[in-house]
Amino acid sequence: MLTGYHVAVIGGDARQIEIIRRLNKWNATVYIAGFDQLNESFTEAIDLDFDSKQVEKLDAIILPIAGTDDEGKIEGIFSNQLIQLSEDWLKKTPKHCLILTGITKPFLVNIAAKVDRTLIPLMDRDDVAIYNSIPTVEGTILLVIQHTDITIHGSKVIVLGLGRVGMGLARTFSNLGADVSVGVRSSQNIARVYEMGLTPIDMNEMQKANMECDILLNTVPHLVVDASVIKQLPAHALIIDLASKPGGTDFQFADKRGIKAMLAPGLPGIVAPKTAGRIIADVVYRLLLEQQGKETEDE
Ligand code: NAP
Repeated sequence: MLTGYHVAVIGGDARQIEIIRRLNKWNATVYIAGFDQLNESFTEAIDLDFDSKQVEKLDAIILPIAGTDDEGKIEGIFSNQLIQLSEDWLKKTPKHCLILTGITKPFLVNIAAKVDRTLIPLMDRDDVAIYNSIPTVEGTILLVIQHTDITIHGSKVIVLGLGRVGMGLARTFSNLGADVSVGVRSSQNIARVYEMGLTPIDMNEMQKANMECDILLNTVPHLVVDASVIKQLPAHALIIDLASKPGGTDFQFADKRGIKAMLAPGLPGIVAPKTAGRIIADVVYRLLLEQQGKETEDE
């Protein structure tokens, strides 16, 4: 339980709703900002007053997955209010207050460092990324079904990258009956793909690779699906780029070639916001308890 903990949830999307629900369930005192246009009301959550003593009690601040923009603005889909994070405001929080975000941007890193508060980019954590890969893979299946006129079963799929998302994609599409090849760059991962019973593609030699496929799923956050790769794809191929913005595809060139290519960011929040919120909430729970453990050790 989180009895006695004070947590502010500022901005965000449907994932935050589940986070607030779970924090309430665990008996934390929850302050919220950026949810004024939400139809549902959180009877147990308190509106965060940025100028009040509430701030001095905060053990953690939960920001949206995107964190802030380059000026500190916090986006929230349930509000038109402008919420701006500032160094002066953060200074009012207790020293131990954790700043939890999905990803970091230079603005957030800078102000957290200036006020000496711990900033935790949750999406950098292996556990979060692995749990998140589950709704990401499911969202990819949905997109593939929506944007092709063939079954996944029997289709030829290329997955680029064998990280946390790539691994799930390769295994799941193979389990659905697709003929899966996986593009990797190390000899260790070539061996892993072979061990999985799939066909490895050496990404160091993409020009020599067989890129004949119906569906190309990219997870590599660098320009790997460039003109030379796109030229090898059949005209009917569908490219779904899951890598973080701007993705790893030359979308202009794909368009020029008449190949359907789409960047598909934020799938967990779109296809399974409740699950995605629960994943974050569970990690926040552990982090808060760990933090308390550290404080007790220091005493
Ligand atoms: P990850 O575990 O770090 O995997 C990235 C993979 O890319 C690794 O296999 C890595 O290979 C490979 N790679 C990196 N640079 C490369 C290069 N220059 N050439 C060839 N391969 C390269 O990351 P992840 O958690 O799977 O996430 C992958 C991407 O998807 C990230 O951009 C993440 O932000 C994004 N993502 C998107 C969604 C969505 O909804 N669209 C959801 C979750 C994550 P090595 O192992 O050899 O380093």
